[in-house]
Amino acid sequence: MSNPDKPIIGRFAPSPTGPLHLGSLYTALASFLHARSQQGKWLLRIDDLDTQRNVKGATDAILTTLDTFGLHWDDSVVYQSRCLAVYHDVLNELAKNQLIYPCSCSRKMLASTAIYDGLCRNQSITADSLYALRIKTDSRLISVEDGLQGLISHNIAKQYGDFILKRRDGIVAYQFAVIIDDDRQHINQIVRGVDLLTETPKQIYLQQVLGLPCPDYLHVPIIIDQHGYKLSKQTQATAVNLTRPQGVIFELLGLLKQNPPSELQYASVTELLDWAIEHWNIECLKNIKQVTA
Ligand code: GLU
Repeated sequence: MSNPDKPIIGRFAPSPTGPLHLGSLYTALASFLHARSQQGKWLLRIDDLDTQRNVKGATDAILTTLDTFGLHWDDSVVYQSRCLAVYHDVLNELAKNQLIYPCSCSRKMLASTAIYDGLCRNQSITADSLYALRIKTDSRLISVEDGLQGLISHNIAKQYGDFILKRRDGIVAYQFAVIIDDDRQHINQIVRGVDLLTETPKQIYLQQVLGLPCPDYLHVPIIIDQHGYKLSKQTQATAVNLTRPQGVIFELLGLLKQNPPSELQYASVTELLDWAIEHWNIECLKNIKQVTA
């Protein structure tokens, strides 16, 4: 139920590593319907910090696809690549408070350790930039009640160790950028794929260190192919077909367990989305970890 004192603000935050495939559109649709069914806003952010993974033309393809499928976002699109100064300001603040440190361990040195042992913990930041920046983690237990997956608890120091906020190649890490931007955009509801569930405690840890509010999290199932692999660029998932968007939306509503009535099969995108917003039932997705396309 929507609370007029706390309007829902959801978001979709794809990385432009390729055009949207059925799996990414599934997540987009779930977050859109969840926000809209609560009269919430739905924002779009392009997570384009990892320049080595960005694919030329992918951002335009993503925007066109969302538009074609009637998933119209509010406000202007936010591009992480245009927010670098913000991340660096926060890193400077963390450095001032001695909460981060430079790590010059090579990939080879790290290869044998699953969890970083804190070897560089006492190093101080110098003008040399050939190092990664790690957060000093402590052994607090982070517990989060995920709206779909239930309670998850992680001991950050023990399970992850001091994790990286800025990579050796200068790229700001996903974990860090995501929580800064979610806060700047006042996102209070995050609906995304269950493959990111284990990343969430690290993000909450950072929110706590920075004194940021924690949004509600709902991790929806991911779509797997006939071989049991997540649909992704790595498994050669193809771009969604833009020629008959209503057919794809109808299929996705079925995969989201919303049971659209068969007479809607030939309805327009707008009619389908209106029906889905009105009948959206997130409960149908509870405890399902994966869905086969
Ligand atoms: N940009 C991330 C991805 O495409 C998702 C970010 C998020 O939803 O937190 O995997």
